[in-house]
Amino acid sequence: MTPARFQQTVLTWFDRHGRKDLPWQQDINPYRVWVSEIMLQQTQVSAVIPYFERFMASFPTLADLAAAPQDHVLAHWSGLGYYARARNLHKCAQAVMDEHDGEFPRDVEALSALPGIGRSTAGAIASISMGLKAPILDGNVKRVLARLHAVDGWPGQTPVARKLWQLAETYTPARRCNHYTQAMMDLGATVCTRTRPRCDDCPLARACSARAQGNPQDYPGKKPRREKPVRSTTMLLLERDGEIYLQQRPPTGIWGGLWSPPQLDEDDGGEASAREWLAVRDLDAQEIQPLPPLRHTFTHFHLDISPVWVQLADRPPQVAERGSGWYKLRRINRPRAAQELGLPAPIVKLAKQLLALQAPLLTDSPAP
Ligand code: SF4
Repeated sequence: MTPARFQQTVLTWFDRHGRKDLPWQQDINPYRVWVSEIMLQQTQVSAVIPYFERFMASFPTLADLAAAPQDHVLAHWSGLGYYARARNLHKCAQAVMDEHDGEFPRDVEALSALPGIGRSTAGAIASISMGLKAPILDGNVKRVLARLHAVDGWPGQTPVARKLWQLAETYTPARRCNHYTQAMMDLGATVCTRTRPRCDDCPLARACSARAQGNPQDYPGKKPRREKPVRSTTMLLLERDGEIYLQQRPPTGIWGGLWSPPQLDEDDGGEASAREWLAVRDLDAQEIQPLPPLRHTFTHFHLDISPVWVQLADRPPQVAERGSGWYKLRRINRPRAAQELGLPAPIVKLAKQLLALQAPLLTDSPAP
């Protein structure tokens, strides 16, 4: 299929079937396209929509985002995962304000030099919001091109990525590049899907090599499997009068900038270490009770959390350090608490578990 024919086919399909009502397809500007592209990395459209809308309501412009405290930005990301994206988003907004007078640069190379913006995201911003001819190669486009040309191998390998970028460049049109980019992303998301491609509805079906071979699902090639390592940690759930003690995590690393209970080192877990931790801080526990362990899986490892419930005799000033605070368990139990408070999902789970454990205690208390 010639590039001209390919472009015409994809654009005609988009005019008839492409989605045009997504929130980031309205009032298009570089800021909105950029935020949506970052949110859509590794996350489904349906999950992104409410986050995008809340984000735009709180930070309607790039200047609003740049001026916001990082905490506030992270709280709007809570639940979307991959928090480095949110930290980079914030950093990037500040870089555009400081280094580009608040306007995204109109060229792919300068866009790619900004924090958290890779070549494909730069291409999406340049084409969708600026109408420039710029190829993209996000997960959806990779899948369509790899199947169309039966490109072997995992796209994380340089020769495979190079081949796919070459194809993306060949097919990207100068005219209606904005619609072409949206069309390709949409085709991958709605027709050439990962597990069940709808080849009978695909405008590229007749030219598709993977379909002719009868094995579209084999493309793109999978990443060679490696077992995820397991890390473990003990979390101290310090509780007093229905409140739990949380500390703000350092800005980098897992759950950077979010709030979580104090943690003991990997080799240092268990009830005895919890007692030691309390003794060093001169704290009195009424009761210490290990709770069932919890596994949380990140992209690169599993984290096995051993929670220890520590009921304190009183709310001690010793642990009221900077970057820490007491949260009402009932508040954490509310819907959307994770987003409002900036809490990682497993911490919300643990807090709910604590609340459930307390319920019988409350019911068992003697009537006044
Ligand atoms: S024919 Fe099937 S495998 Fe090929 S691009 Fe279309 S949906 Fe994907």
